[in-house]
This record gives sequence, C-alpha cells and structure tokens, in this order.
Amino acid sequence: MSISKVCIDTLLNLRKTPHKPRHFTYITTYRCNSRCRMCGIWKGSEPQAFKRELKLEDIKKIFNNPFFSDISFISLGGGEPFLREDIDEIVEVITKSCPELNSITIPTNGLTPRTSMKVQRILEKIESGINLSIGVSIDGIGETHNYGRGKEDAFERGIKLIGELKELEHTYGNLKVGFGSMILPWNVDSLPDLVKLSSEMNLPKPQFWMPLILDSFFKNEEQEPELKFSDEQFRKAMGFLKGYDYRKDFYAFYAENMSRIRSGKTRIIPCFWGYHFLFIDPYGDVYPCSYACKEEYLLGNLLTDDPSDIWFSQKAENIRKTIGKSRACSLCQVNCKFFENITINILPYARYKLYNSRHQLRGKA
Ligand code: SF4
Ligand code: SF4
Repeated sequence: MSISKVCIDTLLNLRKTPHKPRHFTYITTYRCNSRCRMCGIWKGSEPQAFKRELKLEDIKKIFNNPFFSDISFISLGGGEPFLREDIDEIVEVITKSCPELNSITIPTNGLTPRTSMKVQRILEKIESGINLSIGVSIDGIGETHNYGRGKEDAFERGIKLIGELKELEHTYGNLKVGFGSMILPWNVDSLPDLVKLSSEMNLPKPQFWMPLILDSFFKNEEQEPELKFSDEQFRKAMGFLKGYDYRKDFYAFYAENMSRIRSGKTRIIPCFWGYHFLFIDPYGDVYPCSYACKEEYLLGNLLTDDPSDIWFSQKAENIRKTIGKSRACSLCQVNCKFFENITINILPYARYKLYNSRHQLRGKA
C-alpha cells in the first residue's frame, strides 16, 4: 500500500468516528397539505401515526440534554412543518437547548395559511444572532410548478408567501428568504428561468436537487415512472448544473456524481450522516440519516432513551458500518448536507478538481 493511500485512509478513518452531532434534521410532522407528483411522505401520517407525534412537553425534555451542546445548524422539516401550530414554540425550545446554534432552516410548500405569521412568531422568540432561513419550494414558473404540486394556484401562493416574508426581512435582519427547486423530468427546461426569477425577486440563487425514489421517507416508489428522466432530460439537467455558478463549482461536482451513478458507477461524494449528523422523525425515533428511516436502521427512541446512549451504542456502531457500505449509500443521489460533507472530507472534491485541471491543461497543450 502506498504512503499516500495510507495517509488518505488514516485521514478518512479519523473522521469516520461518531461525534456529538453538529447538525440534526428533525421532521416535525409527516402530515402534508399537498399531494405532489414526486412525493408520498404524507402516506406515513395516517391518523394513528399523527397522534404519536412528539408533543411540546416531550420536545422540551428531549432537547434539554448536553448531547445537543455542539449543534450549530438545524433543519426542521416535514411533511409541511407549518402545519404544526406550535412550530414557533418548538423552535424556541430547541434554540434554548443548543448554545452553539447559529442557523435554522425550515422548508415550506407555501400552501399553508398564516405561514408568514408563524414565521414572525418564531422570529420574535429567537435571538437575533440565530439565522432563520425559510426555503419556499418553487419547481418551475407558473403551470410547470402547479403541475408537479397538483394545485392550480401553487405557484401564485408560493410567490405571495415569498413576498410576505421579504417584507418581514426589513424588520428581522436574521431572516433569510429564498426558494429551492427539485429538478424533475417536466421542469428541466425551466431551470434557467428559476435562476432568473430569483434574481428578479432579489433573492439568493436557488438550491437545486434531484429527486430520490425511496420506499422509506419519500414513499414514492409508485410514482417512479413519472420521475424517470429520459437521456435527453438528464443531459439537459446535468448541463444546467455543470454551468450553475453557485458556491463555486460544487454543483458541477454534484452533477459529476449524478452522471457516474446513472452510468452504473458509485457515489464519490463522502457522506457523514450517522457520524456528524443525525435524523429524528416525528415520533422521536432516531436514524443515522433521513433516507435510512427503516426498521433495520432504527437506533433508538428519544422518549425512552438518552440520546448519548443511542448515538454511542454498539448497535449504532454496527448500523453505521452497514449503512456506509450499503448499495443504497453507494448509489445515493442526495445532495443534502452536500457542502457540509465536502468540508468534513475534501479529498474526493480535491481529486475531482485536480483531474479537471489536468484535463484542461491537456486540452490547451
Ligand atoms: S414534496 Fe413536500 S409539499 Fe409535496 S407532498 Fe412531499 S412533503 Fe408535501
Ligand atoms: S449516502 Fe445517502 S443513504 Fe447513505 S447515509 Fe448518506 S444520505 Fe443516507
């Protein structure tokens, strides 16, 4: 084995040890008031499941624990998180329990009444040093968005919400408003228009991600035929991502990864879910990652177990090893925590950069 290989492996192994998490995703509810073509999350929120969602009192008890003392970044997701009437109190409780916290993101489909009012209530409860990012889902202009979301006024309502939140930005300097877009077979021609829309609305550039087809979390296996990209659609999507100048060329690296997976190769982006990041579902169940929320990956439940005991247990260690080597991981297309993952282990990105610069030099020679 070469010295450089030993160094690389050592570095990787050093990093691949479980830490007190820096980040968690907590799905506050699987309920959703939309029935989008690309998603079946709401299938996990049948009436009896809804009754099991963590109550505010449970959330207080769970997060008031030193295990969460290193958390700097939180994603609160759904379903549609703003269906929880107590979303402001949930955020307040969590922020008080995480002394290092500097950033919270909450996505929304933009279809829930009084969302801007709920955002304002959150802002009144958190310290001004904590940034709150609200990402409204907009996957296309007008009809293109409405088609995917299955509602004829979804685009109009999303844009209206963005306008209301932009107004709040004048009062609350820690509010950041933007939109995120899923790349779908039916919107590949709209992607440049979405970037243009963000500029016209004076918003940050949108984040883009490819859909995942999963029997866990998204529960969208039945929708697979609609979500399959033709070669032409995929080529257009990757062409767009390769030229997307947001956060340097990280999206080009992401596109490179997607293209590899489509051609039968494996993922090159490192993943530290289960090591630095954890996932909590609406019922307090803990999993190493959002996309491994299946019985075989269940680490424990926060209503009955201490989070440190769950996270540092032998069971968790065994599951981490399985998940890291699983076929699902090697083919996983998710870009979630993409940037954080690269900063924890920069080597695959550095290799990509080196390869590209050599390629360019050869082209010039
Ligand atoms: S994509 Fe979002 S808004 Fe649409 S059904 Fe899934 S959770 Fe609901
Ligand atoms: S590679 Fe994908 S499925 Fe595997 S742990 Fe990471 S995010 Fe989860």
